[in-house]
Amino acid sequence: MRWCFIITDAPLECDEPLTEPVCDRCGDCLRACPGHAISEEGLDSWQCAVYYKGAHRSNPFQKPDFLADHPEREAILSGEKRFDADSARAILPRLNFLPNTNWGYSPCLCGKKCDVACYKHLMGGAKQ
Ligand code: SF4
Ligand code: SF4
Repeated sequence: MRWCFIITDAPLECDEPLTEPVCDRCGDCLRACPGHAISEEGLDSWQCAVYYKGAHRSNPFQKPDFLADHPEREAILSGEKRFDADSARAILPRLNFLPNTNWGYSPCLCGKKCDVACYKHLMGGAKQ
């Protein structure tokens, strides 16, 4: 779940509050994640941290020599490697594809494919 906020005094009409979860466990988010960070058990946050920061080869900012010296390069770029806290912390400093900021926000380099898949599913499979 992601929250965004817009502060406005526009006279907006409100929908009725949801009374039931909208997730029907379709699994589209699970299949969409390039880092295989979602499973039936939920989100693996270390796996997500690594692939959110762009470890998968679908990251358009990756250069051809990215992780060229790493023995598990292919498994990492294909999203097959499983990261735990230690291995994720070890590789995060190398996932520096964008300039550092002073406010701590880290832009997503996985394309938020889990969210996009969910939006499409919940909107009735509407094609973009
Ligand atoms: S894509 Fe959305 S509705 Fe489908 S399992 Fe994931 S969170 Fe639930
Ligand atoms: S935010 Fe990106 S890396 Fe994390 S679960 Fe979603 S698609 Fe995967």
